[in-house]
Amino acid sequence: MSTIINDIEIIKAETSKIKDIDFDNLKFGSVFSDHMLECDFKDGKWQKPKIVPYHPITLDPSAKIFHYGQSVFEGMKAYKDTNNDVFLFRPTDNIKRLNISAKRMAIPELPENYFMDGLKALLKVDEAWIPTNEGSSLYIRPFIFASGNGFHASPANEYKFIICTAPSGSYFSGKVKVLIEETYSRSANGGVGFAKAGGNYAGQFYPTQLAIDKGYQQVIWTDDNTHEYIEEAGAMNIFVRINDTLITGPTSDRILDGITRKSIIAIAESKGIPVEVRKITVKEVVDAAKNGELKEMFGAGTAAVISPIAGFGYKNEDFDLPELKETYASLLKKQITDIQTNKSEDSFGWRYKL
Ligand SMILES: *Cc1c(COP(=O)(O)O)cnc(C)c1O
Repeated sequence: MSTIINDIEIIKAETSKIKDIDFDNLKFGSVFSDHMLECDFKDGKWQKPKIVPYHPITLDPSAKIFHYGQSVFEGMKAYKDTNNDVFLFRPTDNIKRLNISAKRMAIPELPENYFMDGLKALLKVDEAWIPTNEGSSLYIRPFIFASGNGFHASPANEYKFIICTAPSGSYFSGKVKVLIEETYSRSANGGVGFAKAGGNYAGQFYPTQLAIDKGYQQVIWTDDNTHEYIEEAGAMNIFVRINDTLITGPTSDRILDGITRKSIIAIAESKGIPVEVRKITVKEVVDAAKNGELKEMFGAGTAAVISPIAGFGYKNEDFDLPELKETYASLLKKQITDIQTNKSEDSFGWRYKL
């Protein structure tokens, strides 16, 4: 049985899994909604997206994704307010960034309307999957990978674009202890660190595991050349508060242009918080920690929004951050999530009502 919404064909699942889901105990990204968007690139162009039941996919063992890792992804969320209206947050930025990542990985760029019309249709069909509990949301994972065959080390001639969604509870990591990295790198000049390319994350797992083995939860990435500059916190952008100034590094080849990051900068500035976008040295953070000027550090990204850091390790020394009553982290997290969930005025025009 198929229907059409917004010119998008919908093939509905025969049964729904939703009654088996415990919406009060959702982990992050581990149960998946009834439907997904599927869209193929073949014969030199992107075919029309379809909404189909969530299902496993079959690939040829020589599909290039397995050998050469051509894959990019996005992460975004849908929120329901108390009237059951559904909202996205700055979705156009995700579409644009997906295509920036795709271009860098020699993946054909996707027509923006396929993304947006397809996502709208998917969210309409799976609207019941968007949770309403405080702090929860529907996590949305759009991704593209090389499905075309052959061992030749060259871009594939076929790709798949898929969007899956996962109802998720609030992503509470607790306060994390991080290790400032002195050996490994996440990205390099001229590399692919600015892209949400799958392999970037695979490359982080091993150094992160080494940090976990030493008793930390996450790695603070430093620049690949000197390891003297702080760049990102795991797969999140990083903010440092020294005295009352909030500091984050400038985006570059190596630092991903996070939507949470730039939203935090704008909100902080609108609240009169002094913000500096500039390179941050490991030395100034260590010095500030020693003389009591380092007040906060936190990661910023769609999944956790803001993830506060309790302390860090550097050259076999551990530094604890103070426990403040009022933090920029909690103020900014509340401001951004209130906009996302339609609890406050959105003077920035970021909220996107479906
Ligand atoms: C996705 C991501 C971020 C955060 O980006 P958002 O748009 O805020 O979700 C930051 N750093 C890296 C490396 C990322 O992959």
